[in-house]
Amino acid sequence: MTETLTRDNRVGQASSLASAWAMPLRDSWGRTASDLRLSLTDRCDLRCSYCLPREGVKWVARRELLDSSEILRLAGIAIHRLGITQVRLTGGEPLLRPDLLEIAAGISQTFVAAGRDPQVALTTNARSLAPLAPALRAAGVQRINISLDTLDPDRFAQITGRDELASALEGIAAALSAGFQPVKLNTVMLDEASLREAPDLLRFCLERGIEWRAIEYMPFGPHTVRVGSAEQLDFSKLRPVLEQEFRLSPVRDNIDIHAPATRFQVFNLAGTKRLGTMGMIASVSTPFCASCNRTRLSPTGLVRPCLFSDLSCDLGAMLRRGATDDELAQAWVGVTQGKPSGHGLGQSDFQSPTISMAQIGG
Ligand code: SAM
Repeated sequence: MTETLTRDNRVGQASSLASAWAMPLRDSWGRTASDLRLSLTDRCDLRCSYCLPREGVKWVARRELLDSSEILRLAGIAIHRLGITQVRLTGGEPLLRPDLLEIAAGISQTFVAAGRDPQVALTTNARSLAPLAPALRAAGVQRINISLDTLDPDRFAQITGRDELASALEGIAAALSAGFQPVKLNTVMLDEASLREAPDLLRFCLERGIEWRAIEYMPFGPHTVRVGSAEQLDFSKLRPVLEQEFRLSPVRDNIDIHAPATRFQVFNLAGTKRLGTMGMIASVSTPFCASCNRTRLSPTGLVRPCLFSDLSCDLGAMLRRGATDDELAQAWVGVTQGKPSGHGLGQSDFQSPTISMAQIGG
């Protein structure tokens, strides 16, 4: 069911942990942000056609990227003052940051200093994960989401522009050995070939104790170039395709009301053996904006309350001009109030953000 918010129908989250904070990141629709997506760089070592173009990208100047002490200061404000309860490191490709371990450990220690469980997660394409996985785990990263759109080497090269499937698979194996819990694998459903491959990707994950998540392609940002057909894939075709090989049973008692995925228990076709779980994230056709609890910080320190809106506040510039922690916290609270009620994708007046997912942080 599609969720919508109206001014008279705001989500009441007064009981949530974040609302109890001195300065919760509450928007004018009654939602409270407690999940920080921290984009560490706009650079990526892959060039997925739907995310980053192969040529002509305007990279952020290196001097504009926040350094580790600036990132840790903003993360500290978010955790100590604004009720952020979990931080996901993303990008671009976060593994490209030479100071990634220092940042992960610093955020983990900030949670401990605030008297809370460290909740640090990472989203990566896993291409260079294999040598880093144990150190990341030791630095306090607990959960990992790996993006992989295909198990076919040729299609991988076609989508990403790099013949590097083997490295990504090594990274996945290393994540499992290092003990991240959970390991999830995210696949964007791009075209009919994605649909055909879906049962193989699900089986690959089930065999390894990974939760597979199929993501609806979002016509988003300046680089809306996909592989395959020009039409948006009908995401509702996915379940019938999977049900030719598996039995899916919706998970009804989803404990995290903010989790965007519709989750399923997966059984063999006869229904006699439970094989694992999977999720479908239909951000476009079934938006979860009404329960969105995210706030995003770009590699230069732009806070964006909504992935789909250019509404932002430049905390990076404020910080470099000498703003106090109080001023930074207040600015973060202030820009959050203007968070739109929904992403508006598919509506005639929808305006795509002017920067890409890689620049904002996916
Ligand atoms: N480099 C890291 C990775 O690959 O996971 C983190 C950043 S990447 C931008 C995060 C995720 O956003 C990837 O899973 C990618 O497939 C997804 N993504 C990028 N553009 C998208 C779009 N238009 N629709 C849906 N997902 C998208």
